[in-house]
Amino acid sequence: MDIADLRDRILKQDRRALARAITLVESGRADHRAQAAELLEALRGHGQEAIRIGLSGTPGVGKSTFIESFGMMLTAQGLRVAVLAVDPSSARSGGSILGDKTRMEQLSRDPNAFIRPSPSRSHLGGVARRTREAIALCEAAGFDVVLIETVGVGQSETVVSEMSDLFLLLLAPGGGDELQGVKRGIMEMADIILVNKADGDLLPAAKRTCADYAGALRLLRKRPQDPEGFPKAMTVSALREDGLNTAWEEMCKLADWRRETGHWEARRAAQAEYWFFEEVRQALLARLERGPVKAALREYGAQVARGEITPALAADAVLKLLGEDEGKT
Ligand code: GDP
Repeated sequence: MDIADLRDRILKQDRRALARAITLVESGRADHRAQAAELLEALRGHGQEAIRIGLSGTPGVGKSTFIESFGMMLTAQGLRVAVLAVDPSSARSGGSILGDKTRMEQLSRDPNAFIRPSPSRSHLGGVARRTREAIALCEAAGFDVVLIETVGVGQSETVVSEMSDLFLLLLAPGGGDELQGVKRGIMEMADIILVNKADGDLLPAAKRTCADYAGALRLLRKRPQDPEGFPKAMTVSALREDGLNTAWEEMCKLADWRRETGHWEARRAAQAEYWFFEEVRQALLARLERGPVKAALREYGAQVARGEITPALAADAVLKLLGEDEGKT
């Protein structure tokens, strides 16, 4: 593959080239990895900085409806929007497929939008790297907004918030004790909580839910990266396209404030460092799954279980083997 050519075409905002490049970063083949690394290095510092918006919510809360309406609103303003997904469920059994184009039919036909479903079969670490690299490719291809969608399960919010500038939590109106349904940790990640489906019969419940969350957000410890009034809770109706513009204005307000105060840059720098350590950690973990180390792990594990060696000594022995493995990668 001609990487220089691919690079030039991405910088010229060629969507097919972008799609091809994302396929490259998704590949597990060693030669593809090398090409992807070369491409990303060639693109580093080019293109533009997008607003990276993480969006999380449980299935049925209205993520795809929101992305469709919100995305169409942005493209109508002349902005170019990319949609990526981090799907923690590698087995596609049940649940919705994130970033599926059939879920965002109008947006997927919009020439100013680019939708990329999450790749199948991949552990969260692999998905995380692929998504980060896809974000970089989208920025190189001149997208103004990159939406990263995830489902409210397990670790995926953390992964997405670590690659986003802003993190949105989408919720549905609840029946009173809904605060308990959202884990505190996820709430602490949110910059803006959007209570969706604030329309028709659901409007009163949506307002109540929104007030409850606004109250809960005020109880959280103040974060240095937030101006007065953030994080905040708002109601929207993705279906009726209500409140989306206001939500976007709030996002821009927050983004501007963070840019002016240096929090934006600091966060991106911290994220880059985080992902560097994560890459190292993943690579080390991968080594545990290989040849002699894997066998030793099993053997020492059994010895520890039988009380023949202390866990600390056994761990030392395995780590020594890892050291010896160094030259063989
Ligand atoms: P996802 O699984 O989070 O992507 O949720 P969907 O976008 O597929 O929406 C789930 C259901 O909620 C669908 O039947 C939507 O039509 C409905 N829905 C989504 N947004 C709204 C909204 O703003 N108001 C109402 N009343 N229904 C909505």
